[in-house]
Amino acid sequence: MNTNPKIRMTKQRQVILEELCKVTTHPTADEMYQMIRKRLPKISLGTVYRNLEILSELGMVLKLDVGGTQKRFDGHVENHYHVRCTECGCVGDLQMPTDQEIEQQAQSRTDFQIKRHSLEFIGVCPECRDAKKRKVA
Ligand code: ZN
Ligand code: MN
Repeated sequence: MNTNPKIRMTKQRQVILEELCKVTTHPTADEMYQMIRKRLPKISLGTVYRNLEILSELGMVLKLDVGGTQKRFDGHVENHYHVRCTECGCVGDLQMPTDQEIEQQAQSRTDFQIKRHSLEFIGVCPECRDAKKRKVA
């Protein structure tokens, strides 16, 4: 999987990547730490955090800078869109094709070399919507 000889895929890093790829919840570093601890009880939060940063620099995980809250991580690196809840901050995937035309439109209007785009939709998740309904009732 990792073909770059300069990057050593440590056991810890491998476990972090495996666990992140299993979920679609876009966990924060803290949440990742709680998940990883079940498999590697001695690992520290700092180690999890550092390895997530390294994996994101390598392009093996996505770091989502959404909504000014805690950074969230995504093991699914192919471009896709996200939807964020304004109430609880949870982030979900959106199953829809990405817009290639928007990149061409942007490219024709800038000297930057466009590589990709990201798009975040904002809404209220089903749990928060139900909770609101209960309050009103
Ligand atoms: Zn919510
Ligand atoms: Mn995602």
